[in-house]
Amino acid sequence: MSLILTAVLIAKLPLVVRLYDSAGVPPRVFEHARQSAGVTLAAIGIEPIWRPCHVKGCVSTPKPHEVEIRVVKATALSERGSLGFAAVDVVERAGTLATVYVDRVDALAMEAGIDRGEVLGHVIAHEVGHLILGSVDHSPHGLMRATWKVDELRRNLPLDWKFSGAQGAEMRRRLVARSEETPVVESITAEARLIFGPDDPDAIWKRAGRFDPGTRVTVTVAGGAPVERYFVLVDSVELVVLNLDTPGLPKRQLLNMTIDNAAWMAATYRTIYKDNNLRVGPDGVFVKGRKVADLGVVVERHPLSTVTALTKK
Ligand SMILES: [Zn+2]
Repeated sequence: MSLILTAVLIAKLPLVVRLYDSAGVPPRVFEHARQSAGVTLAAIGIEPIWRPCHVKGCVSTPKPHEVEIRVVKATALSERGSLGFAAVDVVERAGTLATVYVDRVDALAMEAGIDRGEVLGHVIAHEVGHLILGSVDHSPHGLMRATWKVDELRRNLPLDWKFSGAQGAEMRRRLVARSEETPVVESITAEARLIFGPDDPDAIWKRAGRFDPGTRVTVTVAGGAPVERYFVLVDSVELVVLNLDTPGLPKRQLLNMTIDNAAWMAATYRTIYKDNNLRVGPDGVFVKGRKVADLGVVVERHPLSTVTALTKK
């Protein structure tokens, strides 16, 4: 109640938010996102004035009372689990540019079963928060917390998606000050990242990264039934596991080779890894010079995007 009253009593400060969309977000989704972020900012007395940018970027450098949000698709180089980030000058305590990975926002919204425009609006408001607060810090609760979980989106508690009263007051104060600021002489830039919570599919890779080579695991690859394998390694693009189902394989020896050097086992698609009379390489698995299996049948490589579950047996 008091929050609503405050919002009515204070005059709204205008903030130009330039939206740069290189991901082809449908207008309906943007409309919802602008509305959602607009409500969040209005509650602390800031009125966003939305300006589109050309797809190749904004033409001019943002003015002090402007911020720019780039809406892009994540690439292989984007930090795993990150929904977006804001670059903030921590000396000047101000920022002008933030990036949002809209495909990840969409995936999170879909998993939570809520409108993608709504989630995009929350992310935009969060990044505007960093840019105006001039801080990469996060708070334990509310919109400025660092990690968002699927169940938090589902329960849709209003307090989870609002700035605190103190943050709102600080943002207004800084927004007023920004228009009068002198040029930056020396600066240090830091980035604040907003990430998926442990409900996120990426979390399985963080856990898997700590599995010991040779661990018995159950793997589910999109559309298939769970199968039992032995963990070799996981990197940023693929999961490598051993399939020891083929009859006649020297299982214990293959496992020991994996435990001794998982990276070598994972690299057998290009380099031969030998242990006594056992040879594993691009042309297959050989025991005493006799081929017992094709390499791909034993050393399986699954792109991370195709793996839907991985658990310790
Ligand atoms: Zn953040």
